[in-house]
Amino acid sequence: MIIDVRSDTVTKPTPGMLQAIMTAEVGDDVYKEDPTVNELEKYVADFFGMDQALFFPTGSMANQAAIKLHTQPGEQLICDKWAHVYNYEGGGVSFNSGVSCKLVDGKRGLITAQQVSENINPPDFYHSPLTTLVCLENTTNKGGGACYDFSEIERIRTVCDAHSLGLHLDGARLMNALVAKKEDPKKYGKVFDSISLCLSKGLGAPLGTVLAGNKDIMEGAMRVRKVLGGGMRQIGYMAAAGLYALENHVERLVEDHRKAAEIADTLNTLSYVANVEPTETNIVIFYLGNGVSEQRFTDKLHQQDIRISNMGQGKLRVVTHLDYTDAMHDQFLKALKSFS
Ligand SMILES: *Cc1c(COP(=O)(O)O)cnc(C)c1O
Repeated sequence: MIIDVRSDTVTKPTPGMLQAIMTAEVGDDVYKEDPTVNELEKYVADFFGMDQALFFPTGSMANQAAIKLHTQPGEQLICDKWAHVYNYEGGGVSFNSGVSCKLVDGKRGLITAQQVSENINPPDFYHSPLTTLVCLENTTNKGGGACYDFSEIERIRTVCDAHSLGLHLDGARLMNALVAKKEDPKKYGKVFDSISLCLSKGLGAPLGTVLAGNKDIMEGAMRVRKVLGGGMRQIGYMAAAGLYALENHVERLVEDHRKAAEIADTLNTLSYVANVEPTETNIVIFYLGNGVSEQRFTDKLHQQDIRISNMGQGKLRVVTHLDYTDAMHDQFLKALKSFS
């Protein structure tokens, strides 16, 4: 038994999901003739109470398309210094949109309305790039699955309105936040101009992200997706996996959160652990004490068929997910306690 808690992307389709894939009705989605893709897009648009949605192969492509739809070359977006759109999308913001990022020094990947406000370039000062977009992430990836307080998002919206800025949400793990905070997705649909929702993280589909937005923003979305090479044909097979995930794998996220909290609690009792970040969802980030070698720690776990992530700068990461069973959980906690 291999216990892989490096990421929530390592899951494999469940038998029910495979069945949904096998029996999906499909068509050519480039002609918008795939009924299952159309159903998925409608499901996600309705879920957020937004006008439209579009299916993308990856979260990076969905975020990059959103940024392209919101901006013109030479402009600037505001995001946290740990943002996925800045750190982990291959420099796509500049490559695809010719846009620069104003990085904000947030807390655990979360930024405030005050910080947004302070980082907007004055629009009549033509020497600096024109600020046109704010990108938030919820939950934060590098920030250890931290969730926004919705009231802060509302304050950020107010700042965006006052300065005519677009507001995009990288919601790769938004479902984790909605479940953890018991929030209404329609509130998110109201406050954001666009939202990307990943189906292949905690939800367990093999691929896919849906970008939801209102008509004005989504108008050019098909064209931008085509330019990025993301027009797909009989992709209803994967949309079926996504629909299955949305219908069956959302409520169970509380299980992942419970296990992550138990891992954090255990780590907090261990003398070789220096610090554990607050654990709100399915990501646990922790640091080893002075003189405890990360390499030796991860090697020791590896010998017991346990894989965790070393994120550098002393950051170790564990992510719970659909395929992380109760038996694995027990064994993992035992292995943590027995390390010395
Ligand atoms: C995983 C992830 C994405 C999307 O990544 P892809 O690998 O391109 O699907 C976007 N944002 C965040 C915060 C993520 O964790």
